[in-house]
Amino acid sequence: MKVIVVGSSHGGYEAVRELLQDYPQAEIQWYEKGNFISFLSCGMQLYLEGVVKDVNSVRYATPTSMEKQGVHVFVQQDVTAVDPKQHEVQVHNLADDTTRTEKYDKLILSTGAVPAALNVPGKDLDNIYFMRGRDWAIKLKKATVDPAIQQVVIVGSGYIGMEAAEAFAKAGKQVTVLDIMPRILNTYLDQEFTEVLDHTLAQHQIKLGLGETVQKFVGNDHNQVQKVVTDKKTYPADLVIEATGVKPNTNWLANTLELNADHTIKIDAYQRTSAPDVFAVGDATHVQFAPTGKEVPIALATNSRRQGRYAVKNLTNANQPTPAVSGSSALSVFEYHFAATGVKEATAAKFQAKIASVYVEDTYRPAFVPESQNAKVQFKLSYNPDNGQIMGAQIMSRADVTADINVISLAIQQHLTVNDLAYADFFFQPGYDRPWNIINVAAQKAQAQLK
Ligand SMILES: Cc1cc2nc3c(=O)[nH]c(=O)nc-3n(C[C@H](O)[C@H](O)[C@H](O)COP(=O)(O)OP(=O)(O)OC[C@H]3O[C@@H](n4cnc5c(N)ncnc54)[C@H](O)[C@@H]3O)c2cc1C
Repeated sequence: MKVIVVGSSHGGYEAVRELLQDYPQAEIQWYEKGNFISFLSCGMQLYLEGVVKDVNSVRYATPTSMEKQGVHVFVQQDVTAVDPKQHEVQVHNLADDTTRTEKYDKLILSTGAVPAALNVPGKDLDNIYFMRGRDWAIKLKKATVDPAIQQVVIVGSGYIGMEAAEAFAKAGKQVTVLDIMPRILNTYLDQEFTEVLDHTLAQHQIKLGLGETVQKFVGNDHNQVQKVVTDKKTYPADLVIEATGVKPNTNWLANTLELNADHTIKIDAYQRTSAPDVFAVGDATHVQFAPTGKEVPIALATNSRRQGRYAVKNLTNANQPTPAVSGSSALSVFEYHFAATGVKEATAAKFQAKIASVYVEDTYRPAFVPESQNAKVQFKLSYNPDNGQIMGAQIMSRADVTADINVISLAIQQHLTVNDLAYADFFFQPGYDRPWNIINVAAQKAQAQLK
């Protein structure tokens, strides 16, 4: 069996790993149009802040390591068309500008997404950057040490925008974050959490322009961006970083595969596309959202990796549906660590989900532990008021208690209720937590609220 995998990031990498495990005899061809395989954008902030020194180490596979395992790796080779009837792909070799066709028995697409650029006047000016992939990582790193760049305006206050903001603030730049939404991190956290982070950002001299819509970028005679104009203000800028979401890399597939309204590739529960023997995974597809059971786009490495595995599990016999996901993520914003999963008050309408919530503040260790070795924890649990089913949670503290959110993620996937969590058996040790874990406390409060 010959399997072609397109895209060398999270989804493609996991598909190749599962192929090596499940089909050791298969001929595997792995295609990447860039000149580098498996760059980890998730590690970009660590590189920009100098924690990781070598950009080429921000990866999990090299062509040599994969070739040693028998994988045929092709870099700078753009797969430009699929012919499902002939079971063929067209490959454009970008290095020597030649094209060829390759036959496949099975095809797995993990072509991912690219940053969505704002379509406003001035969008093509120099010094408007994006934060995804190795090439942008290198350019951004140069910008962190460029003395000519002082004013950095970041458009978008999701987790990528916040990572950029922190990296550039730590590099000594004057950072402003703009967002059309009235709060930062709007899809990840509710107000109780973001108002704390607003204060932290101000302490670190990061300015916010929220509830503002970018109308244009203004440049100088050298085509360099100089100003960002919103519907409310004008901001001076030597560098703009756009972090306003992603769009799937699927234009080239529009006449071949069925796409969703948002241009992601339509897949079934087994990662199969509308064409036989063609599978798709990752940011170019949707996932099944466990709290609601609906298909939604959630661009996360975790989702891409799981889907990559399941595409191969279902390659020859489709009988293992990909598990639904809760959409869990974590981030640090300076001294704070937060994690969130499932539905929040801020996203309930978007997900058409009915939720009620309880909010709890506690210290993460018992009150007798001195303040210097203790920290406040904020926790919010959301559930379905009709049946008590767990729908989501958010946690934040100066202590790293983010792993609690994995418990909630599992609870969502397993359709547990507040009753299941209220007296669930969690360990206690004063070095780590209190006799009742904050999850117990919140679930007990939710039980009372339900009555
Ligand atoms: C700054 C940043 C930080 C992030 N942090 C996290 C995190 O902490 N945790 C988390 O879970 N997620 C994180 N993510 C999201 C995560 O990186 C993505 O969800 C993940 O990379 C998606 O993987 P993918 O395989 O679907 O596609 P992509 O990563 O988009 O990769 C697609 C690959 O396919 C190649 N390709 C596309 N089309 C073709 C073609 N026709 N022929 C050949 N090659 C092609 C592209 O060049 C690219 O290399 C982060 C993203 C960014 C940008």
